[in-house]
Amino acid sequence: MRTAGLALLWAGCALAQGIETLSSETLAPAAVPTASHDLRIAAHLFEGTRWSPGEARAALTAAGALFAQCGIAVSIDLHLLRAPRRFRYLYTPDSRELLRGLAPRKPALFLVEDTRNQPAYDAEAVGRANARTRPEMADTAWITYTRRDLPVVIAHEMVHVLSDSGSHSTEIGNLMNEDSDPGNTRLTPAQCETLRARGEANALLAPRMVKP
Ligand SMILES: [Zn+2]
Repeated sequence: MRTAGLALLWAGCALAQGIETLSSETLAPAAVPTASHDLRIAAHLFEGTRWSPGEARAALTAAGALFAQCGIAVSIDLHLLRAPRRFRYLYTPDSRELLRGLAPRKPALFLVEDTRNQPAYDAEAVGRANARTRPEMADTAWITYTRRDLPVVIAHEMVHVLSDSGSHSTEIGNLMNEDSDPGNTRLTPAQCETLRARGEANALLAPRMVKP
């Protein structure tokens, strides 16, 4: 009986090892000389999806630059993963298992083929407040392959994660409008303050030392 138990445990380990990092790179960060905080995002791309590394780099770099308006300098580590097909989709039971196997640095971003969750959103953010039934997924954002307004969509979901809030704005041109649009890029000083304070409290943002 003991042997059978061990065999089962071993099969679980082998499954986690079915996830492999093929390559990692750090994308050139946007220079924000007056930044008060640094944000380092662990982004993940899967082999065998429609996402191309070039497309991912361009979208992530442009998304990161949108945080300069809040005094946040963003650097992004982009990891290319090889993983069983079911992990390349957002689907809460499988995505929890992916995160248990991968144990990524947070906040983590996943560029996935599509979603199998219902309702099916183009993108989803999981903060602390909406992670109670799926703790592994706290501080993560999931972007499906839609190719529409990608920098805005990615930055929008990261704001949800950093602020730990599902709040939206109806202000014209605001990044947190429910509908994405290439022109929706602005954050108000209050939105910046909330995401800096909450992000720092949740150890997702690193404050820079204040010069004397
Ligand atoms: Zn939203």
